[in-house]
Amino acid sequence: MQEQILLLADAIKQADYILIGAGAGLSAAAGLSFADEKLFRERYPYWAERGRHSEYHMFSFRDWTIEQQWAYMADHIHRVRYETPPLPLYQTLKTILEEKLSDKEYMILTSNVDRQFARNHFPVEKVFEYQGNYDNLCCTNQCSPEVWPFRPVMESMIASTNAKTASISAELIPHCPYCGAPLRLAFRDYPSYDAEKAAYQQWLRQSEQGMLCIIEIGVGFNSPGVIRVPFERITQERDAVKFFRITVDYPDSEEEIAYPEIPKPIADKSCSINADAGLVIQELLKLL
Ligand SMILES: [Zn+2]
Repeated sequence: MQEQILLLADAIKQADYILIGAGAGLSAAAGLSFADEKLFRERYPYWAERGRHSEYHMFSFRDWTIEQQWAYMADHIHRVRYETPPLPLYQTLKTILEEKLSDKEYMILTSNVDRQFARNHFPVEKVFEYQGNYDNLCCTNQCSPEVWPFRPVMESMIASTNAKTASISAELIPHCPYCGAPLRLAFRDYPSYDAEKAAYQQWLRQSEQGMLCIIEIGVGFNSPGVIRVPFERITQERDAVKFFRITVDYPDSEEEIAYPEIPKPIADKSCSINADAGLVIQELLKLL
């Protein structure tokens, strides 16, 4: 593995452009895990007693009332977004990109909605949050492009959640002040999203002017169309490119599927590093 990290450090030094793809595995390596079963049992006993075993497991859960869904989402998002501090591993990554590699152009594409890049003060123009974030609510009817901050609503929901039913009361479900439809988490539906996406695509076109090093960190198969598949395609389509896939394999898990393998058509330009992202980033700090 050390040999592969040396290859990565060399490819970074030779590159003009660095494209980082950050998935849940980066935040997990930094200390924010959705797979912590002990935390889940303590924090969500109602759901643990009903066969759920992690927050990761809840992403695909549908068999609940709308009041239970809001109660869970409010608490989960509060934990992820506000109780979790800015994580030091992100600071280390920022030191590498902003200080050690200040002569290179970089861009980050992330599927994470935990806002760790923003909270660690990465330059806003260098991070594209493809899946948006948890910060706002929007109208399910999409009657206007307006969004409303979720935090005050979230805090009232948490304060009034009934532990016996894991539910909020129906009156707390937020509604659109214009058309009266229920609100939902806005994720990508905030006013500057399209401009941010266009800036990311412009950066990708710009990176065709030089040597590109693509580093995919902790990206599994929860949303492969966001980072994993597009990055493989860029690697396939370009000549001046190196692709590194950093992910831990979970061969025994039914929920966390990572597959560190590299598809054959891009194997000659690629390298898989089957290791914890935290370890790789700490090594890079020493090598660059
Ligand atoms: Zn509306």
